[in-house]
Amino acid sequence: MPPLSQATHQEMQKRLTQAREETLRTVRARIDAAEGDAPAIGPLAHEAPGDDRVTAEMISHDEEHFADHETALLHEIDVALGKLSAGGAGICESCGREIPEARLLATPTVRTCIECQERIEKEQGSGRGPTM
Ligand SMILES: [Zn+2]
Repeated sequence: MPPLSQATHQEMQKRLTQAREETLRTVRARIDAAEGDAPAIGPLAHEAPGDDRVTAEMISHDEEHFADHETALLHEIDVALGKLSAGGAGICESCGREIPEARLLATPTVRTCIECQERIEKEQGSGRGPTM
């Protein structure tokens, strides 16, 4: 039994994809501001053939334009999207229980249930990790 309903799966995918695009737009705007009227993305000689994902190329090429928050957020989004397509989304990484769909929809990058997150935050004593 997949833990997520089809509707939740699709909604999470939609939100994650949107969040990903918004994050990339934020970084792209910063690059534009930093470089004036130069193209946001120049020719990328080092780009691997067949690599059509702009994220990797932007992170490697324009890493200085990414704030830590955005780098972490993009990573979280990619992990969450990967889990969605692999069928592992909606399961707490810490205790293995199902994460309530309302929590998943509120924070699609979430990896743990509320109980585990609270416990982890207490253990770390350093507030939240990257969330949306
Ligand atoms: Zn848990």
